[in-house]
Amino acid sequence: MSNVAVIGAGLAGSLLAIYLAKRGITVDVYEARDDMRRSDVAAGRSINLALSDRGIAALREVGMDEYMLAEAIPMHGRMIHSISGETKLLPYSGRKGEYINSVSRAGLNIALMNEAEKYAGVQFIFNQRCVDFDCGSGEVMFENGRSRRADTVIATDGAGSGVRQSMERTLSGFESSSVFLEHGYKELHIPPGPNGEFLLEKNALHIWPRHQFMMIALPNFDGSFTCTLFLAKTDSPPSEGGVAAASDDGVVLPAADVPAFDQLTDAGSLLEFFTREFPDAVPLMPTLVEDFFANPTGELGTVKCWPWNVGGKSLLLGDSAHAVVPFYGQGMNCAFEDVRVLHSLLSVPPAVAGGSAPDIDWKSVYEEYGQLRKINTDAIADMAEENFYEMRDRVADPVFQRKRELETRLEQKYEDYFSKYSMVTFREDLPYSIAKEKGNAQDRLLMEICSRADSVDEIDLDDVMKRIGSFV
Ligand SMILES: Cc1cc2nc3c(=O)[nH]c(=O)nc-3n(C[C@H](O)[C@H](O)[C@H](O)COP(=O)(O)OP(=O)(O)OC[C@H]3O[C@@H](n4cnc5c(N)ncnc54)[C@H](O)[C@@H]3O)c2cc1C
Repeated sequence: MSNVAVIGAGLAGSLLAIYLAKRGITVDVYEARDDMRRSDVAAGRSINLALSDRGIAALREVGMDEYMLAEAIPMHGRMIHSISGETKLLPYSGRKGEYINSVSRAGLNIALMNEAEKYAGVQFIFNQRCVDFDCGSGEVMFENGRSRRADTVIATDGAGSGVRQSMERTLSGFESSSVFLEHGYKELHIPPGPNGEFLLEKNALHIWPRHQFMMIALPNFDGSFTCTLFLAKTDSPPSEGGVAAASDDGVVLPAADVPAFDQLTDAGSLLEFFTREFPDAVPLMPTLVEDFFANPTGELGTVKCWPWNVGGKSLLLGDSAHAVVPFYGQGMNCAFEDVRVLHSLLSVPPAVAGGSAPDIDWKSVYEEYGQLRKINTDAIADMAEENFYEMRDRVADPVFQRKRELETRLEQKYEDYFSKYSMVTFREDLPYSIAKEKGNAQDRLLMEICSRADSVDEIDLDDVMKRIGSFV
């Protein structure tokens, strides 16, 4: 019977354990932190996450989709909050049933671990931080002095992967880059109303786009919202391509008026900034000052590396191989898709009662997996970065808003039209690389059409579809 050591019991590692166990493979999952079910461990880098079709597809294969969706809050569109407090909903899709879901990271992680533990061949071992991986022998070393050698090691230990760092140090020809945005993020909180009610529209992802920075809020099951402020980490001048800040009515502010995290050092400067930029949110955030100074400022980065495997000895999967910035809401969805694709390449038949599964040629599986996935994970990494600039700078732009309206109408009228966002988010059958190529071509055309029209009513939808058909 194959024996796999999985490093990291986060989202990808826990789901992977279920998939492998269903194949009759024994799995030991080594997690750096304590068991989040038994101790008050911070669940991870964000409190809630947007789960969409690619992630749901992976959960469906192990029978976990309905359970998780019952615990999720549908978000049908982006609710844009202007500086004057007006709101406008931009639907994610023109089709019914295409929406994203706000789920609790901890809730999902715990549900996956509980499910994995139902299989006799799975065990989670906590407080085991991997500090080294021997690319020659395949041995994993832990901080506590223990070591482990299995048939193969799958590293799902996240963006700061210990296994990847060992590969960087010792594997000749290994290429790796970690590129961080100038912006960091901080989580803040909008509590429920006095009767547990949602104080903002429940079924939306709220955005306060302010060009050089933005805040978003996702609903939680208890009536609260988790807000995330994305802001430059330091007050260094905007990098190449950076834009001067502009208020929603188009008044351009000098860049100096836009603070950075390191300038918001006291309650006064923080409240002045929030009251000026997010006036409708401030009354809903009674613990703003405490939260802001208690919560850490997180980094946002893109990790790319290659190769992902060392012969058949190890594989990097999920964020350890390809962390992306969170602006397409796809990091976890992509990691779950990784698991689904890897599993589809395991030719082992599910274990039959009393029998054992035959050996797996891990080297061939990993080679094929890498060839299939790398082009797609690179594509979602690029789109996620582009979407940061879209969410921050363009969602408040009238041409962009007309384009979203046009896309919604096209999706309502034509079954075979999908915006780039829909291709990424609602098409589990479509590789990210194709979504990127098709989506970018469509985006260019639709922006050009919308820049020449004052209203979407003036646009001939059939003609647009013909033009889209001619280059896709
Ligand atoms: C602010 C923010 C918002 C996000 N929002 C979304 C979203 O809306 N939708 C979405 O799809 N994705 C989102 N993501 C991305 C998502 O969080 C990640 O892509 C996802 O968590 C990747 O799963 P993973 O299992 O690969 O890594 P992780 O979830 O990071 O899990 C890694 C696990 O490995 C453990 N570990 C780390 N180092 C070691 C070690 N050396 N030894 C042993 N164990 C170790 C960690 O403790 C952790 O349990 C967001 C990310 C951020 C930062």
